[in-house]
Amino acid sequence: MAEERFISDIRNYSQKYEIEELLDKAEKAEGAERLTHLFAAVCIASEKGLGQTPFDEQLTAAKALTESKIIEMPTGEGKTLCGVFAAAWHKSEGRKTHILTFNDYLAERDRQWMKPVYDLLGIDTAFITEKTSFEERKKAYSADVLYISARECCFDYLRDFTAQTLEQESGQRFDAAIVDEADSLLIDEARIPLVVAGETEIEYDPQLEEASDFVKTFDEEDYEISLEAESVFLTDEGAAKAEEHYQIDNIYDEENAVLLSKINDCLKAQFFLEEDKDYIDRDGKILLIDKFTGRTAENRHYPGTLQTAVELKHGVKTTTRGVIMGSIALQYFVRKYKHLAAMTGTAEASKEEFFQIYDLPLEKIPPHKPSQRTDHDLEIYYDTDSKWAGVAEAAAQAHQKGQPVLIGTGSIAQSETLYELLKEKGIEAAVLNAKNDKQEAEIISNAGAPSAVTISTNMAGRGVDIKLGGSDERRKEESVNAGGLLVISTYMPESSRIVRQLLGRSGRQGDKGESRRFVALDEPIMEKYKLTSLLPHNHIPEPTNKVIEDKVLLREVERIQRISEGDCFDARARLMKFTMIGEKHREQIFSARARILESGKSDLWSGAENYSAALEKFGEEKLSQLEQKTAVAAINKFWSDYLEYTEEVRRGIHLVEVGGKSPSEEYNITVEEYYQGMENELKEHMREKLDELVLEGEENYKVEVPKNIHTYLLEDTGEELNKMPLLLNIFEEEEEAKPLPKAQSVLEAPEEKPVKEKKGFWFFKKK
Ligand code: ADP
Repeated sequence: MAEERFISDIRNYSQKYEIEELLDKAEKAEGAERLTHLFAAVCIASEKGLGQTPFDEQLTAAKALTESKIIEMPTGEGKTLCGVFAAAWHKSEGRKTHILTFNDYLAERDRQWMKPVYDLLGIDTAFITEKTSFEERKKAYSADVLYISARECCFDYLRDFTAQTLEQESGQRFDAAIVDEADSLLIDEARIPLVVAGETEIEYDPQLEEASDFVKTFDEEDYEISLEAESVFLTDEGAAKAEEHYQIDNIYDEENAVLLSKINDCLKAQFFLEEDKDYIDRDGKILLIDKFTGRTAENRHYPGTLQTAVELKHGVKTTTRGVIMGSIALQYFVRKYKHLAAMTGTAEASKEEFFQIYDLPLEKIPPHKPSQRTDHDLEIYYDTDSKWAGVAEAAAQAHQKGQPVLIGTGSIAQSETLYELLKEKGIEAAVLNAKNDKQEAEIISNAGAPSAVTISTNMAGRGVDIKLGGSDERRKEESVNAGGLLVISTYMPESSRIVRQLLGRSGRQGDKGESRRFVALDEPIMEKYKLTSLLPHNHIPEPTNKVIEDKVLLREVERIQRISEGDCFDARARLMKFTMIGEKHREQIFSARARILESGKSDLWSGAENYSAALEKFGEEKLSQLEQKTAVAAINKFWSDYLEYTEEVRRGIHLVEVGGKSPSEEYNITVEEYYQGMENELKEHMREKLDELVLEGEENYKVEVPKNIHTYLLEDTGEELNKMPLLLNIFEEEEEAKPLPKAQSVLEAPEEKPVKEKKGFWFFKKK
C-alpha cells in the first residue's frame, strides 16, 4: 500500500511540477517526502533526457537502493537508470556516489548514457578508466557521481597507500557505492587480491656473499637438514669450520648472531632449496614456485636475506627487488563505503552470502512484462564428447530455422572446441572470451540477429543487453518468429547463479525466448561430489552417446549443484577466518598512513629523546616534512614485511602440528603477535631515524622510497588455505565412490589425494 502511494505521488508530482521546483521542495523536505520529490524530478529528467518514463518496477528498485539493499532485477529491465535515482538521492544527502561497474567499457558507456539525466538535475558526473591520467582522475573523484570499474577504484585506493604527499593521493572518498553486476563483483571475483607493488633498492652485502662462497666448501658432515623445520643447521664439524674460517671463538656467541643467521640462510639456499622444485631461475631472476599451484608468482620472495642467498647461489647479483606494498580483495574494499547498495540480474542463489558478508538484504523486483522464455529440463549426457555433439546439434537446428543462439561455456578452450565443431557443420560462430570488452559489446549486441550463433565464456559481454533482431530493429520480427533467443548452458558451474545469468539474457522485457541446459556425467563437479555414490545402484547409467532420460538421475545431478553451492560458501567463509585479521591490520595501517599525510604529523617523533634537539636544528615546518616523509616510507617498508611474513606463515601453517587446535586460530595468534611486535619495531625504527637525522644532518639523511609503482591482480591465491581444512580434517572418513563404468574422463590427472598417517594427520602423499 505504502509502495503504491509512493509511486502514485511520484507520478503526480512529476505531472504537476518542474524539475527545479521539485529539487527545491526536496531540499526543504525530509525523509519520505524528500525522496518522493526527488524521484519525481529524476523521472522528468529521464523523460526529457532519454525519452524514457521510468517503470514502477524501476522506482521500487531505486528506492531499495537507497535502503542499502541488493536488488535482483532481470537483465534488460533498466538497472542503469535505477542507479541514477539512488545517486541523486545520495547527492541530496550530501554524499558522493561511486557506481562500481564490471569493467571500463561499462563505466564509460553508462556515464555517457545517463549524463543527460544528471545534467538536467544539476548533478556533476565523471568516469574513470584505466587510461585516465592522474590529474583527470583527481578531478573525477571530486564529481558528485563517478562511474568507475570496481577494480580501477580499488587500484586507486592501493596507489594512495604509496603516495609521498597529500597531493599525490587521488582524493577518493568512501561515502556511497552502488555495485553493478554485483554477483560477479561481490561473489565470483570478490576474493581475488588486487596488489600494488614497487621496486626497492637492495644494498650489497659483502658478508653474505662471503658466507655464500664459504658454504660451497662444505661436506656432508658439516651440516644437517631438518625437514620438519625446513631449515639447515651447522653440525659441530661445520661450526668448527666456520670458527676457523672467520677467526672467531664461538659462532653461537651473541655477537656472531647476524653472521650465523646469514650462514644458515646460505646453507638453506645451497642444500635445501632446489631449483625447478622450489624456485626457478628465469633470466637471472629467482622466482618462487607456489607449493600448491605449481605456478610462479611475481614479486614474491623468500624472507630476509634468504632471497639474496639463493640469488648468490646462482651467481645472480641484483640491485633492486620488486616488493608487494599493499593488497586488498574487493570483498573488503567495498566494505569501506559508509553506504553500500548493489544490483544484479541474479542474486537469489547467493542471498545468504550477500546478507552475511555484505549486510545487503535482497529485494527481488519482478519484470515489467513477464518473460516468455521456455526453459527446458537439464539434458544429461554420459560423457563430454557426446555432450558437445548434442550442443552443436541443438545450435545447428536453431540456426537452420533462423533462431539466434547464444552458447555459454566454462573456458576459452571450450569455446574454441565448440567453434570447431560448429565449423564442421558449416556454421561460423562469433566467439567472445572477455579479452576486449568494447569489441565484445558490439558483437553481443548483434547476438539477437536471425540465425546468429554466438559462443561466449561466462564473463564476456557482461552488462550488455541482447536485443532481438540485433542492431537492425526491423529484423526483430524474424527472430521472434523463429522462437526468440535460444541460450544454451553447456556445463554445471559451481553455482546455479552462473547458469541463471546466462539464461537471463533471453526473454528480456517480455520477449519470447528459449533455454536448454547440457551436462555430462564426467564433468569435474560430478567427480568432485561423487555423483555415483549418491545414485541408487540401478540408476548408475551405462555408456551411451544419447541423452539419458532418468528422473532419479536428474534429481541427483541437480542435487550436486546445491551441494556445491553450500560447499563454496563454506570454503569462502573459512577463507575469511584467515583473511579477517590481515584486513583489520591493513585498515589500521592504511588509515594511520593517510592521517600522517593529512596532518603532517606522526606522533612517532614528538615523544622521542632527540626531538627538542631536532626541533631546534631544523625548525617545526622542516622537521614535520621530514617526519612525514620518514614515517610514510617506514610504514610502507614494515607493511611489505608484514605481507611477506603472513604469506610465509600461510604457506607453512599446514606443516605445523597443531594438535587439535584450529589452524585459523593459530594463524590469527601468530599474525597478531607479529603485528604487535611490528608496531614496536616501527616506533624504534623512527627513533633511530631521528637520531640519524640529528647526527648526520639533512644532506646525508636518506629515506628509501620504492619506485616504479604498478598494480595487478593476484590470480592464484587462497588455494593453500582452502586445502588446509582437508589437511586437518582428521576424523572424517572419506566415502569411497565407485567410478562410472568405463567412463572416459576428460579430467587431467587427478589431484594428489590425502592419505591418513598413524598420528591422525593428513599429509599429501609424495609422488
Ligand atoms: P539492465 O542493466 O537491467 O540489463 P539496461 O539498463 O541495460 O538494463 O537497460 C536495458 C534496456 O532497456 C536499454 O535499452 C534501456 O534503454 C531500456 N530501458 C530502460 N528503462 C526503460 C524505460 N523506463 N522505458 C523504456 N526503455 C527503458
